[in-house]
Amino acid sequence: MQNATRHEDIAMTRTKLAATYHLPSRVYLREVGPRDGLQNEDHILPTSQKIQLIDALSHTGLHEIEAASFVHPKFVPQMADAADVFTGIQRLPGIIYSAIAPNRMGARRALDAGVDAVQVFLSASEAHNRSNVHMSIAESLNQAAEIAHEVQAAGRTFDAVLSVVFGCPFEGDVPFERVLALSERLLTMGAAQITLGDTTGMAHPLQVREVFVHFQRRFPGVSVRFHPHSARGAGLANVLAALEVGIDRFDASIGGIGGCPFAPGAPGNVCSEDLVHMLHEMGIATGINLPRLIEVAQLAQSFLGHELPSQTMKSGICGHIPDGEPHLMSVEVSL
Ligand code: ZN
Repeated sequence: MQNATRHEDIAMTRTKLAATYHLPSRVYLREVGPRDGLQNEDHILPTSQKIQLIDALSHTGLHEIEAASFVHPKFVPQMADAADVFTGIQRLPGIIYSAIAPNRMGARRALDAGVDAVQVFLSASEAHNRSNVHMSIAESLNQAAEIAHEVQAAGRTFDAVLSVVFGCPFEGDVPFERVLALSERLLTMGAAQITLGDTTGMAHPLQVREVFVHFQRRFPGVSVRFHPHSARGAGLANVLAALEVGIDRFDASIGGIGGCPFAPGAPGNVCSEDLVHMLHEMGIATGINLPRLIEVAQLAQSFLGHELPSQTMKSGICGHIPDGEPHLMSVEVSL
C-alpha cells in the first residue's frame, strides 16, 4: 500500500512536470515494426511468425499497428504475403490495423484484405520517390488521388506519409515549401492525417521543431504525425523536440527492428520500448503495457536471430513505476 502511494506521488509529480513544460499528456503510438522494420531486414520471416508478432503486439495496448505494405513483391519481397498476414491476424477492437500502398493496385489489394486505414506514401524529393516507388512525384500524386477515391468509397481511412521531409540521401536539403505544397494536395484529396518522415535519420531537434511549428501554422487542426529514425542517434531527441511543440502522434518499431539499409548495424526506426520508456518516465501516458512490449521485442529478436538495437530490452525498466505506465494522467493540473 505504502509503495502504491509512493508510486502515485511520483506519477503525479511527473504529470505536473510534463504539464509545466506544456508537453502532451497522452501520446498515440503507431507500431511500424511489422512493416517498416521487417521490410529492411535481410531475413524474411515466415507468414506465421509475422502473424504471431502482430498478435502479440495487439495485446500491448497500442493504438495502431502498421501491419504490412501492399507493394509489388518484385521490389519488396519481404511484404509479398501482406494479404495472408491480414487474413491470419486476430484483430482486437479499438486497434487500427493499417497498411501502406504506393498505387491503386496496392490499395485495392489492401482494401480486399480488410485494412482499416490505407496510407499512400510518397517522397518529398524527386530522386527518393523514383528510387522508392519508381514514379515521379507527379505520378505518385495521381495515384494518391485514385487511392483516396477508392479508400473513401470503401468507407475506410485514407492517410498519407511523406518521406525524406528532413533531408534526402540523394538530393540533400528538401525545401520545406515543397513539403507544405504536397501536404496541401494530399489534404485536398481528403487525407485524414499527414505523417512527416525522417526516413534516413537526417533530422536534428531544431529542424524538427521548426518544421512542425510551420506545419501547424499553415494547417491548424490537421492531424500530423512524426515518423522518426535513429540512423544518426538523434531519434529520441527529435521526438522530444516534436513533443515540445505539441505533437502527440509518433511512429516507432518494436526492438528498433529494421536497421538502416545503407549502414549495416546502424539503428533505423526509433525503438518502441525505448520511446515508451522515456515517455512513461516523463509522466506522459501511452496506454501501453511496457513489460509486455519488451516481451514482444524479445520475441522479435528470437525470430530474427540477431541482436536488436533496443536499449531498454538490454538495460531493463528503470523501476520508478512498476509497470512503467503513469497512472494519474487524468489528474487536472492547474498552473
Ligand atoms: Zn521509416
